[in-house]
Amino acid sequence: MRSSTTLVALRTDTSQRVSIGDTPEENLRALSDGRLLRCVHCGAPLVLKAGPIRVHHFAHANLSACAGSEPETESHRAGKLRLFEHFRAGALDAAMEFAVADTGQRADVYVCTAGARYALEFQQANNTAEQWAERHAAYRRAGLADVWFLGQVRYQPARGEVVRSISPYDPRPVPRDVYSASAGAFKVRDLERAMLAALAENPDALPLLYYLDPDTGDVTALLAREVRFNTLRAYRYVVPLAACALRAGRLWTPLTPLLAEYHARRDR
Ligand SMILES: [Zn+2]
Repeated sequence: MRSSTTLVALRTDTSQRVSIGDTPEENLRALSDGRLLRCVHCGAPLVLKAGPIRVHHFAHANLSACAGSEPETESHRAGKLRLFEHFRAGALDAAMEFAVADTGQRADVYVCTAGARYALEFQQANNTAEQWAERHAAYRRAGLADVWFLGQVRYQPARGEVVRSISPYDPRPVPRDVYSASAGAFKVRDLERAMLAALAENPDALPLLYYLDPDTGDVTALLAREVRFNTLRAYRYVVPLAACALRAGRLWTPLTPLLAEYHARRDR
């Protein structure tokens, strides 16, 4: 059995939550050595794993099944931590592995700003469309704006297709000389199709998918033009996560102002 790991822990001396990323490593080391860390999900003792290579995390001291946490990959931990470290700056409150009281869901990252509460998800696994739609609806019922980052592993140009610069004859008013602007065909699965279908129902939203590379912090944005079976024709851009923000209940990227005209003129 793979041991369940987590990026948050409960201090038994103060009952406070501590996280990788918001508490200095030496403090976490002292708490771990003092046996003062418990799993926020199952209450079992945790130990700090802080080596030079892998993302620092907590592991259950005993190989036990943890009801609340799942075995997760190194890249999932890295993506989650990147989202937390970036978006908690300036937020009123932020937490990883946040339990949503009303629905029993656990958000990878929770962020509360003056304007809205957000659930950020870093999605690498190939969940079904139904699973995604359920989670999306539950977040909305709980009053949370859910923002989904697909793992970079899911970003895949379609076989035999070349991602090329946007044609000067393309009449659409999309940005074409910035953020590695290009156009091409990309492989999508049920999950991506479900996300795009939900976006299509919202007249205020653009059909954008975001892929986060946990190693580089780059966000690849696909602006959908047409989905046919497992192929998505899209404009592609790459923006740094560091330039992205949470505004008005959605993800704001440096592309947002550049796409205003495209947004205004579509469907006409
Ligand atoms: Zn646990």
